[in-house]
Amino acid sequence: MAIKLSDSIDNLPKVGTVTERYFNNLGIYTVADLLWHLPSGYQDLSKISRLNQLQPNSLVTVRAILQTIANKPAHRRRLTVTEGLISDREQSLPVIWFNQPYLMKSLEPGREYFFNGKIQLGQRGLQLLSPEVEPVKTETIHTARIIPSYHLSGRLTSKLLRYLIKQILPRAAEIADWLPPDIQRRQKLLPLPEALRQIHFPDSMTRQAAAQKRLAFDELFLLQILVQKRKRDLQQFRAPAIPFEKTAIRNFVATLPFELTKAQRRAAWEILQDLEKTAPMNRLLEGDVGSGKTVVAALALLEVARAKKQGVLMAPTEVLAQQHFQKLAQLFDKYDLTLALLTNTYQKIVRRGQITAAPRLRASISRGTVDIIIGTHALIQDQVKYKDLALVIVDEQHRFGVKQRQALHDKTPDQIPHFLSMTATPIPRTLSLTLYGDLDISLLDEMPKNRRPVKTFYIPPDKRSGAYEFIRREVANGRQVFVICPLIEESDRLGVRAVTREQEKLSRQIFPALRVGLLHGQLKPEVKERAMKNFTAGKTQILVSTAVVEVGVDVPNATVMLIEGADRFGLAQLHQFRGRVGRGAHQSYCFLFTDAPTDNTKKRLSALVKSRDGFVLAEQDLRQRGPGDFFGTRQSGLPGLKVASLTDLALIKTARTEASHLLKSSLNKYPKIKEKISQWEKKIHWE
Ligand code: ADP
Ligand code: MG
Repeated sequence: MAIKLSDSIDNLPKVGTVTERYFNNLGIYTVADLLWHLPSGYQDLSKISRLNQLQPNSLVTVRAILQTIANKPAHRRRLTVTEGLISDREQSLPVIWFNQPYLMKSLEPGREYFFNGKIQLGQRGLQLLSPEVEPVKTETIHTARIIPSYHLSGRLTSKLLRYLIKQILPRAAEIADWLPPDIQRRQKLLPLPEALRQIHFPDSMTRQAAAQKRLAFDELFLLQILVQKRKRDLQQFRAPAIPFEKTAIRNFVATLPFELTKAQRRAAWEILQDLEKTAPMNRLLEGDVGSGKTVVAALALLEVARAKKQGVLMAPTEVLAQQHFQKLAQLFDKYDLTLALLTNTYQKIVRRGQITAAPRLRASISRGTVDIIIGTHALIQDQVKYKDLALVIVDEQHRFGVKQRQALHDKTPDQIPHFLSMTATPIPRTLSLTLYGDLDISLLDEMPKNRRPVKTFYIPPDKRSGAYEFIRREVANGRQVFVICPLIEESDRLGVRAVTREQEKLSRQIFPALRVGLLHGQLKPEVKERAMKNFTAGKTQILVSTAVVEVGVDVPNATVMLIEGADRFGLAQLHQFRGRVGRGAHQSYCFLFTDAPTDNTKKRLSALVKSRDGFVLAEQDLRQRGPGDFFGTRQSGLPGLKVASLTDLALIKTARTEASHLLKSSLNKYPKIKEKISQWEKKIHWE
């Protein structure tokens, strides 16, 4: 058969237009695609039973000679029955097939076959029902071995895929093994063609594991090269060096109403030292909710402003941008600095505590009369020109490409600003070695001293009114409450309907005497701002919200976080919600409600009740939900990672070492790797 790997799938036998479409649905267009369609599971049919040992209702493989075979007239119309008799040395056994009259022609009496099927107790004793049959003389793919099963679409069957893949498997030998031989030798990895053979038709599960390891290594190795190359590419650029002025920093810290934690000092030190260099900083400041990232950011911004350059702080939502603006305005109110708020709806300036509207803010920014600019994505849109941008800080977005940085700094093409991203999502170690491997990490692993742990409870449905009673008491004591609603229907993507309904229910039926605010992403900015202001000022006692409040919002007087449909959120995200309370001096509480009080849900949520360690929770999310939660959007998978697990620390470390070893020489020496990398780079959305 002169099939080539690049051939379209319809060149294969048994693949017509309809079948081709089913394959296309699976993303399979070429023979090579089919070869890379790896099994989703295996069934071990390698144990051969003797005919005198069979039990009714068991699935068996037997090796026997076909004695007779005949098509019988059927009782019912349109049903053909084929009956056979098979025997081994000890015993014979009737076999029956339905609607496969062609077997009469393809099977030869007197020949030895493997039969795989179910043993049934019929009127005439035991019989073998509709078995798969393969001659003993040939290499089997459906019986008498470990057989693969596949993800399917339409009318595709695993049997058809086994048949086709068996045909094309010899072509695997033509795939140039792109992994350098010395790495293969050092890591004891199977050659690529052998790995493909063993992943589809393993000789044993040990061989399958070896194949899987080889393919997983390939993926992790490529990912490492990609990440390390990104890091190296960045070093070709220059960033403005910002002098580290220790006295100025100390003076500022002395004005704070609290003492910095050790972790805050350490992180600030790392950041300020990075800023001194002309190598662009690429750093992630990672700290649980409430660990005090904002003030660390403020220190960096202060240094930049003192060096007469501009710094930017970008938040994911308007609510948060506003809050950062107010907070920084407060922190800097004794300083001779101009801060601006720039979003699609707001343009404001504050200087020594005086806030003014600034309709021509963009012009002021480009003239350089503004030192620190706070805002949303509007900050990186093209009409904004900066005077001398030295630092970009981004809250809750993990990455920022070289291109984006260049665009912000377009005066000098080889200059880019320093970059700091802040996140409350604890990043498991395996991810910080892979997906985040191009970032340096500063960790705030210590909470400010005044914090008391939030008491967390899973509330079964029948205790709901008790929880409401508790809330009434908290409010009577002057405290405030968050209620978070998940989105329920996909059609209501932002959860607006669910949250609106909940707000009505709470304000009319449950807490008619209290003021219940509403916050979601689709409200007009003024309305949103008012909702936040009213809550911050204590004018509303309860704030019903979508996940908008997940990040950042700081209301120290709030002591209860009630989460509806908690099962719909990841543990790390729930932990973030919980971090919205417990920020002041009062004991705080987190109540988890679910719509699906199953044992599974309870078990998952109990992790949150037990643990206050964001890392532990993030690890669990990674294992249970995959890495999607760590990228902003849940759906964004990782192209290229089909086999590798992002929890396999040992293999990740090996791949990392080998990648950095290889990158010591130029990638040009490895054209096949280079090609793969550029394919991946196009597919991965880092931001
Ligand atoms: P996050 O890390 O979640 O962004 P914030 O920066 O919003 O946390 O800080 C949370 C709260 O803790 C703020 O009100 C902030 O003023 C306060 N805070 C920050 N650092 C300290 C500290 N060292 N001691 C006491 N309170 C602090
Ligand atoms: Mg924050």
